[in-house]
Amino acid sequence: MAQDRRGIIIPLLIIGFIFFSPDPARSPASRFQERPTIEDAIAEEQRSLGVLQNSSYGDAIHSSTLNLTGLEPDRGYAWEALPRIRDRAAQQLEYALGDAGRQALEGELMDPDVSLYNNVTGFLHGQWVVSKAQEEVARPHLNLSSYAQEGRSGERHLSRFGRNITGSAGMVSIRFREREQPVHYSSAVDAYNATGIGAEMSLKDTSTGDEYELQLQGTYLPSLGQAIMTTTSEKYAGIFMLPHFALSQATFQEAKALLNDSISRTIERQKQGDTTALNPWAANVEASVANPFEHPSCELIVYLQQHEASGLPAAAVSSAFRPSALVSFLEHELRFPTGAFMPTAPEMRFSMLAFSPDCGYILESKGEPDFVPQEGRHLAGPKLEVLYRNGRHHLLVFTLALGAQIILLKRQMNEASTPSTRSRISFYSISILSLGDGFTTMTFLLISLFITGLWVNLMGTAFIAFVSVSFFGMRFIMDIWTVQAPERARRAREVAEEERQRRERLVAALERIRAERRARQATTPATTAEVPAHGDTMPNANAGADLPAAPHSDAQPVSESLPLPVTAQRPIDTGATPVFMPSDQDRLEPVAQTQTANPGTEPELRMSSFGSLYTKFYLLLLATLFISLNASSWPAGIRRVYFTSLALTYLSFWIPQIHRNVQRNCRHALNWEFVLGQSVLRLVPFAYFYGYEHNVLFAKRDYYSLTILAVWLWIQVVILGSQELVGPRWFVGKDWAPPAYDYHPVLREDEEGATMPIGFSEATASSAPTSPLVERPASLSSPTARRSSVAKESKPRGKRVFDCAICMQDLEVPVVDSGGSSDSTLTGGLLARRTYMVTPCRHIFHSNCLEGWMKYRLQCPICRETLPPL
Ligand SMILES: [Zn+2]
Ligand SMILES: [Zn+2]
Repeated sequence: MAQDRRGIIIPLLIIGFIFFSPDPARSPASRFQERPTIEDAIAEEQRSLGVLQNSSYGDAIHSSTLNLTGLEPDRGYAWEALPRIRDRAAQQLEYALGDAGRQALEGELMDPDVSLYNNVTGFLHGQWVVSKAQEEVARPHLNLSSYAQEGRSGERHLSRFGRNITGSAGMVSIRFREREQPVHYSSAVDAYNATGIGAEMSLKDTSTGDEYELQLQGTYLPSLGQAIMTTTSEKYAGIFMLPHFALSQATFQEAKALLNDSISRTIERQKQGDTTALNPWAANVEASVANPFEHPSCELIVYLQQHEASGLPAAAVSSAFRPSALVSFLEHELRFPTGAFMPTAPEMRFSMLAFSPDCGYILESKGEPDFVPQEGRHLAGPKLEVLYRNGRHHLLVFTLALGAQIILLKRQMNEASTPSTRSRISFYSISILSLGDGFTTMTFLLISLFITGLWVNLMGTAFIAFVSVSFFGMRFIMDIWTVQAPERARRAREVAEEERQRRERLVAALERIRAERRARQATTPATTAEVPAHGDTMPNANAGADLPAAPHSDAQPVSESLPLPVTAQRPIDTGATPVFMPSDQDRLEPVAQTQTANPGTEPELRMSSFGSLYTKFYLLLLATLFISLNASSWPAGIRRVYFTSLALTYLSFWIPQIHRNVQRNCRHALNWEFVLGQSVLRLVPFAYFYGYEHNVLFAKRDYYSLTILAVWLWIQVVILGSQELVGPRWFVGKDWAPPAYDYHPVLREDEEGATMPIGFSEATASSAPTSPLVERPASLSSPTARRSSVAKESKPRGKRVFDCAICMQDLEVPVVDSGGSSDSTLTGGLLARRTYMVTPCRHIFHSNCLEGWMKYRLQCPICRETLPPL
């Protein structure tokens, strides 16, 4: 007897969640694997800070005064290249800002009038190429044995480094992190107004397809528009030597003072046990995932040089405003909107120079003057405030789409208000739609934690999605579930019945084997001793061959639960009318055809309650959410496959409806308005994330996946439409679907009496007086019933005219000649057959009339015979 083991699933799922969910609290400490305690790490940081404080600009990198991790001569880093890198960065600065920039760099001109953004927040995107300076720089000869992490196998190659760029071109994205408050410091040299800056960088190597993500920390000098950032790791104390990358004595002092201040404050916080400051300069984005097999990664020093804002309105620039003042005004207005008239804020534009001291590569942003603007415009992107403003607009559109979804759902619920119409709708289709809304709710709640600037808007949208899923979606699902309960019960009974028959067959076969053996032993008692092996095996083989034939004796085919099509030969005696379950008559339990003799062997009926369904719904939702969260840190290729297949699964929501239409041979379960509307609206978020470049999540454009998703969804819509027009089963084989009653039979002149609607001709009506079915309409005293039983012979051949008992109008019906072939009926008569419906009790109506009637009662309007659901 099968035990109910479903209870085990829930604890397993919970364990799965715990296993899969990222654990940010524990991991930063484990980054310091080499250093046993946090105290050691702090001591090392304090020592490095001391080295920084005592160093001065131009100290030879390998000198003993700069005793920092990563600078030891025996490491083999390419520090010889640093002067060349500084030169190149200075060239970029001069190109961007001209002479004024050069003077400002040397501290000669403190306030160059350049239109630069002071506050860099936002997102940059562009292409990189290998720098011209690369040829002049020898590749480093890394002392790989100094990497203690790798070594068990003795196999250490530079190629196994993470972030090792080997191609010649690729894409780069930089997202500046917004600080809660700008870190200003009080120092004697306040001229540059330096601030600390952090960024997430994503480097994609087009030739290898590799994509790396890293975190950078550094300083930004607003008056120069210059950011210098670096990675920091266990093998390279980048942040402590950052000032030495500065391009001039003056900027060195500035950076040194700033870093002294901010680093010592961070160390203070670490001492006080602030867990968020445990590893404040980690370069790995997934610093939370402690991976013992992690390869060391290439370090990176990044120079970013802001270009002057272009596209400012000429009138504004030439008037009273100085360019710098105009940009400051724009920036202030963006951050603290007063509603003042404002020209569109131009994009930020930076040129980039990235140098890896250990892997030796030098990358540059692609742009002028080495490339024409059509090929590359360095790194450009909107400011965060612009991004947020756009994000708010996008969210508004998305919320409107959600609202439209709710309206569509509401209208569909009103339309499907009767049990009969509800029973046509696929439970799973609506469930998938609701799961999608639930997923949206959860995702927006999560995103709102990270994009603080859009918190209110995201929460609002999440609330709409929540209303959609909990107030409307779940109620509709519950309604459908309740209406379809008898259907599930019947299916469960059928499964149980099949199981019982299988068992009976087995028992019968066994009985036969025993009987045969007994018979053989009785007839040939002497031979058993001579050939025992042969005698034993033979009956078994016979029994196996007999087995399939056995069920004929007592089997009740499942198909008997539905009435035969009218075109089939019907027994005259209607006492054997098959029992089926109309869905609006739940209380009417069908009589079991064969009552089992021994109830002890009957298998249990498997039916789940709505409560367990509810639990499953939310568990599935949570599981998807947790796995998706986890997936966001997977490698880019796998991540893309995961999210695309998740999207494909979600966008298959019409498949269950198509299946249900086929199974029940019914059509028009859902409004066309609902189907088309949902198919458009559900694609909106995908179009946004896959097709729109400046989306809030910075997801990459992927027209290919978007096309696949859209085409897939609309194929389903087309199939649904064809089911409506041609018939629910036109694309499946006859034997694939369970038998179902056909309301639109071909009417033939030659099959009189048995198949034609009552009243086909006077002769037909009188020829079968014994049938109670035929007699019943006549016995009803209402004149309509009597009228319907009289068919008028019409003029054109192949047409008959009946009366529809519902609307009292004429109903012209095509009739095939007695000699007509079936081919012509399939092609020409298909749509014509959709205009009328013949009930199992052989009454004929307009399709519209009877469909309207069947929304409310599954009974023949004339004779009250039960009708199979449509
Ligand atoms: Zn009618
Ligand atoms: Zn009837």
